[in-house]
Amino acid sequence: MVRVRFAPSPTGFVHIGSLRTALYNYLYAKRHNGQFILRIEDTDRNRFVKGATENLVRVLEWSGLIPDEGPMKDGGFGPYYQSQRTELYLKHAQELINTGKAYLAFDTPEEIEMMRSGQKKAGNYSPMYNFVIRRQMRNSLTMSEQDVQDELEKQTPYVVRLLVPENQDIEFDDIIRGRVVFNTKEVDDQILIKSDGFPTYHLANVVDDHFMQITHVIRGEEWLSSVPKHLLLYRFFGWQVPHMAHLPLIFNPDGSKMSKRQITDAVLRKESDDLRKEILSSEKKIDPNLELYIQAGYEREAILNYIALLGWNPGEGDERQIFSTSELEQEFTLERVNKSGATFDIKKLNWINREHLVRISLAETRERLKTLLEDHQIDPFPDHYLLQVIELLQPRVNFIDEYWSKGLYFFQDPVEYDRDGIKKRWKDRSAHLILEFFDKISKLESFTAENIETRLRQITEQHELGAGQLIHPVRLAVSGTTAGPGLFEMLQVLGKETVMRRLKRAAEIIPSLKS
Ligand code: GLU
Repeated sequence: MVRVRFAPSPTGFVHIGSLRTALYNYLYAKRHNGQFILRIEDTDRNRFVKGATENLVRVLEWSGLIPDEGPMKDGGFGPYYQSQRTELYLKHAQELINTGKAYLAFDTPEEIEMMRSGQKKAGNYSPMYNFVIRRQMRNSLTMSEQDVQDELEKQTPYVVRLLVPENQDIEFDDIIRGRVVFNTKEVDDQILIKSDGFPTYHLANVVDDHFMQITHVIRGEEWLSSVPKHLLLYRFFGWQVPHMAHLPLIFNPDGSKMSKRQITDAVLRKESDDLRKEILSSEKKIDPNLELYIQAGYEREAILNYIALLGWNPGEGDERQIFSTSELEQEFTLERVNKSGATFDIKKLNWINREHLVRISLAETRERLKTLLEDHQIDPFPDHYLLQVIELLQPRVNFIDEYWSKGLYFFQDPVEYDRDGIKKRWKDRSAHLILEFFDKISKLESFTAENIETRLRQITEQHELGAGQLIHPVRLAVSGTTAGPGLFEMLQVLGKETVMRRLKRAAEIIPSLKS
């Protein structure tokens, strides 16, 4: 049985890269009828951010990547918060000490610092606490048993370090990268238990992956360099190593690594439209905070689709870009994840968003439009009307909320008229022409686009004018704007009564706005 885990540390907002890790784990589990486990790695008390776990759980819920097991759903392998498992880690650290695979180190932070600066002065620019240095430090390898006992009795703070063997090659096969070889020369004696009694990530991670029976570790490339330490731990405990897959980095369009910039609540409170403009304007450096994209109104499935493509493709010669989440569940394989980094492209995300939007059924779109109208305290409209509006607006809408922002006039009379539009399109004779048009259509029995168009053209022809001389003012009068769907279809959908009311009012008001 495949068991994978998403093991975030609650150190702040949810990063795009974290969601990708969660998604790939989730998809892998689904594809193999396995289990997707959520484990909260909260042992680093210094980096702990209040509310971060709640935020994480909320984002996972939003994304629909619901864990089969985790803090909310015990599958018999809990607890799923590492902070509640410290005893297990201490017990295993002790086991390593007993078997001579780990040791106690009493060096103070000042002593460590002195060692580092001394090394640097001597030309060693990346000093490590390793097989050479450990011999010069204050630890249970260099001290007598009695001295160690004395320090323990005095309750001198200490850490537990991994005893990394000297000059050994450690190899493993990464599902994405193939064979990876490290030499223990490059590995320091990793702290396993800190002086506060909490484990470091490395020990807790290995112990949990073992006891939670994780079969595949799928995580970001930044963890690749930790693998030799983990492999040593597995070896020392005599445990089987899970399969591993390290996902490629995600880059900004300018080639830099995605930062960890934290956006403020004030930004998040902005209207989705403004957020989208902001996202587009920072084209070179992408904001990695997922919350921003949620607030900006991107479709859930579009975000998942786009994020899936940040490192994965369906196969050579397969040009498909648009996938529903259930399609991804069927198609995703780790073998098709690239080694090289992926570049975030906001324009592509926008395109994918639109592609998802047009794939949503009319009925669902209608329901979502109803919610939008409710949010704006607009009285309900009949279903058939909403469906007609959706059909007209669909080609112009890239985000669901634009059915409201770009279609205001379908739901309320214009409160204002576009200033530039008036300047450009409204001539001295426009009011007259509008009233003539008003008269003509008032006699129409069947208020269809075709009939409306015929009447409008009759008027402009009589005056020997181009049809645009009336089309533009009518649009402005009825919608308040200069852009929108085909005018005659729009008038038909709005209906005779509404159109006439608006024409009359505009003919009165717009001339006074012109000066
Ligand atoms: N807690 C680590 C993180 O925040 C997990 C790394 C792993 O999956 O091993 O990304």
